[in-house]
Amino acid sequence: MKDLSRCVHQPEPPMAGFRSLGVGTERASTIVFDNAKAYAERSLRGPEGYTYGLHGTPTTKTLERQLSALEAGTHTVLVPSGQAAIAVILLTVLMPGDHVLIPDTVYPPVRGFCRNYLEPRGIEHSVYDPLCSPDELAGQFRPRTRLVWAESPGSTTMEVQDLPAILSATRPRGVMVGCDNTWATPLLCKPLALGADFAMEALTKYVAGHSDLLMGSVSVTDAALYRRLKDTMRMLGIGVSPDDVSLALRGLQTLGLRLAHSGRVALDFAAGLQSRESVARVLHPALPDAAGHSAWRRDFSGASGVFGVRLRELADGAIDAACDTLRLFQLGASWGGTHSLLVPMRIANDRTVTPWNGNDTILRISVGLEDPDDLWADLTAFFDRLETGMARP
Ligand SMILES: *Cc1c(COP(=O)(O)O)cnc(C)c1O
Repeated sequence: MKDLSRCVHQPEPPMAGFRSLGVGTERASTIVFDNAKAYAERSLRGPEGYTYGLHGTPTTKTLERQLSALEAGTHTVLVPSGQAAIAVILLTVLMPGDHVLIPDTVYPPVRGFCRNYLEPRGIEHSVYDPLCSPDELAGQFRPRTRLVWAESPGSTTMEVQDLPAILSATRPRGVMVGCDNTWATPLLCKPLALGADFAMEALTKYVAGHSDLLMGSVSVTDAALYRRLKDTMRMLGIGVSPDDVSLALRGLQTLGLRLAHSGRVALDFAAGLQSRESVARVLHPALPDAAGHSAWRRDFSGASGVFGVRLRELADGAIDAACDTLRLFQLGASWGGTHSLLVPMRIANDRTVTPWNGNDTILRISVGLEDPDDLWADLTAFFDRLETGMARP
């Protein structure tokens, strides 16, 4: 072999005796085959075999299997973001003329996807009250309703949905149910075990856990449904980078400890903030007055570190000025990382079914891994500033 060939064809190092606790990062566009027959018959390998880098390498399959086990599912697909995971589910289930129900509390870009992408293509949607009864939900079914989407707890306002009740309405009518489980992660809730057809995660948040990558997952308990998801992904040409997956695999190893810590500190903070002058209501599923608290107690094994604080009416500019006092909390959207975040959210434009009266500013707080005393000092300064000059009742 001459030098130019030596540059391209790497030697194979000995593998005997080598074992690592890390998962190798296997990158590939091309998969090579042992002989011409194996290449010609590559499609027989099916969605679980190796045929092309886009469809998976040992690195991606490691994370898929780990998530399938955690979700109490049989198969998982990985996609480039949480939003992509929801889009892939809807595009897999829905054909022109079909109808999907989404909760009023849905992650807002999902409403946009239904309105601006599906609707012009003849796929209908309507919005339901996340806390409605199974009869009220069934009352919104149309002849071609195929899917009820759930998100529990709901974005920003944190209503916990009663998934078994939703299933009691969908099952007799053959309607599928998918659940966005990003807040709980599979460690605190398992929608597939409760009977959902799809459990979806924005791995971007807690699973990856370090605010440095985007990824989503969809887990199912049915091999045929898995094949349909993989078909949609193949048609759209989407997959994930093994480099990103190796970071997610690393994040997942500490998920349990991170969640337990953030969950405990967040609940302390949520309880502590209830007595603040400027607070109308703390929105945290574990507080006894929370919307859907009994469903949370029954279906979840704990709470993660994200909660909301609904504020009373405040002077103009008060929130912006209070945000300027923050030293550790950062202002940012994508929660679930090691850094604590706080953002003022205005939600009135994202609610069309459940009426929203009064001040619609909610602080969304994501507790990270900094020292809890430092974080509490930051929050105390924030609320002191917010309440400067506020009339005491
Ligand atoms: C962030 C988030 C998503 C979207 O995840 P991305 O990876 O940012 O696209 C979906 N659902 C919920 C509940 C989220 O918080």
